[in-house]
Amino acid sequence: MKRYGSLRWILLAAGVIAILGLTGMNVYSLYALHEHTLESSRENKKLQIAEFTDKIRYRFFKKFIGLGSADINRLQEEFNKSGQFTPEVTSLLNKASGDSIYDNIFFIPSGSDACQQQEPILQYNSDQKFEPTTNYSSVVCDGMGIARTQIKSLLADYQYNNKVIFDSHRSITIALINPSKREVFGYITMPFNQDFLRNSYLPKILAQKFGSEQHPGMNVWLRDWTNNEIIASSNPNATYDRQQIQFEQNFPDFFDYWKAEVSFTDESTIAASNASLIKNLIVLGAAMLLLLGALVFMFISAQKERALAERQADFLANVTHELKTPLSVMQAAGENLADGRVQDQQRLKRYGTHIFSEAVRLRNMIEKLLDVAKSNAGNSLVEPEPTDIGNLVESYLDKHQKFFRKKDFNLDLNIDDNLPKVNIDQNSLETILSNLIDNAIKYSTDEKYLGIHVSKQNDHLKLCIEDHGIGIDKKNLSNIFTKFFRVEDSLTAKTKGHGLGLSIVKNLVELNSGSIKVESKPGNGSIFIIRFPILSESNKEVSLDSSSTLPEPDSRNKELEEHVS
Ligand code: ADP
Repeated sequence: MKRYGSLRWILLAAGVIAILGLTGMNVYSLYALHEHTLESSRENKKLQIAEFTDKIRYRFFKKFIGLGSADINRLQEEFNKSGQFTPEVTSLLNKASGDSIYDNIFFIPSGSDACQQQEPILQYNSDQKFEPTTNYSSVVCDGMGIARTQIKSLLADYQYNNKVIFDSHRSITIALINPSKREVFGYITMPFNQDFLRNSYLPKILAQKFGSEQHPGMNVWLRDWTNNEIIASSNPNATYDRQQIQFEQNFPDFFDYWKAEVSFTDESTIAASNASLIKNLIVLGAAMLLLLGALVFMFISAQKERALAERQADFLANVTHELKTPLSVMQAAGENLADGRVQDQQRLKRYGTHIFSEAVRLRNMIEKLLDVAKSNAGNSLVEPEPTDIGNLVESYLDKHQKFFRKKDFNLDLNIDDNLPKVNIDQNSLETILSNLIDNAIKYSTDEKYLGIHVSKQNDHLKLCIEDHGIGIDKKNLSNIFTKFFRVEDSLTAKTKGHGLGLSIVKNLVELNSGSIKVESKPGNGSIFIIRFPILSESNKEVSLDSSSTLPEPDSRNKELEEHVS
């Protein structure tokens, strides 16, 4: 068994390392998952911002959806003929002219140098017709100029009939292109209505998309970075702080001076992820502690089992030896007597005394074994009755006074008057007394003191057995009630015993609803304190009824005492 000792420690260490390793990995994964959840939640929000910029872009030319299929040849012919557009394109212009996002709609044929000469350009009026006007701002010319420049480089391999070009947040120009002739027919330019854009459209759409009700997890500001001016915000209550901005989104080829700036706030996803992280960590921690606890418990149990098995094996070997020794003595003495060879009176008496004392020794040993069996059998062998512990202690000592006298012990007996009764089995108490007194005598050297005190303490009766013997050191105190345990020191080694007495005592005390504890100091002695609950009035009657069935008190020590005396 011993050779597996170190293997057991190695396995325990491996088990603990495995549990800690698994827990560590799980904690790491939980944190990674938590980070990933937060990261993907933010990535998702960034995507929403990108979608948002696309949506705004689309908003500026959505009234011209359908222009791509218009016949530009026919449009040119109609314009050359009437100065107006074909009905299909006119219907698109009509839609756009009703849109408050545009201030006006202007058209300049590609050959015109109106902007350079301050000559009139065409304005789409409320009669749904183009009319020349000189009342146009530089915004219109700037928009057309940018469009002209961009188209120049594109035209060689451009296949569509229009191209949308933004002049940042100021205007949008749609170049009408004749792809078959690779020429630009003209430019429709629409300056934005700045008031509507800044005060109505942008704040509204920001609030709609990212207002605190829809997206409590972030605030979005539209900022003109050239002038450091906030154009619009998704949440009017949130204060802009440059330090808090965690993400910036540019607008693709429009609003060049503007940026969507985002700060992520503590939101439900983060809170939920945090809560789930904490929950998981608690469960994991509890599971780890449980596993570690179970492992350590199993290890300690195995160690205890092993120690018990070892002690049991020793005990068996000792008992066999000790049962055989008195038997051999008795057998030899009996044989001599039976032969009739011993005639001398003195020798006859000596042989008789040998047989008697060995028989008592044998009997005591068997009694001890029976006590173990009894205390293991539990309640079935305990028959409590209302007992005056003081009387019982006195009568026990009375029976054994010659024995104490012989042992030369100074007996300090102190029993309080008028003690209430307790409900205990008298045989059990005799066994308890005999074991504790026996130990007090066995484990005392020079100071032969035996104190026995019985007193009342609250609702308990307290019985103390005290000696001034060798005492028990702290590390052994918790083990002395364990079956087969004996302190390993020179006096114990010299004293006969099997480490069963105190385990029997504890078992019997507990079977009689009592408790036992020990206070001890090596070199100073020990005191064993037993408490039994005092019989309450209601219990008294029940117990008194049952007392008639109790067995006769045990008288097994009588013979020992007579013999010794
Ligand atoms: P044993 O047969 O060895 O006396 P016990 O169960 O009665 O078995 O006691 C267990 C061990 O506790 C003893 O071996 C002894 O080392 C220690 N012990 C018990 N009582 C005393 C005492 N009064 N003083 C010192 N040591 C004691």
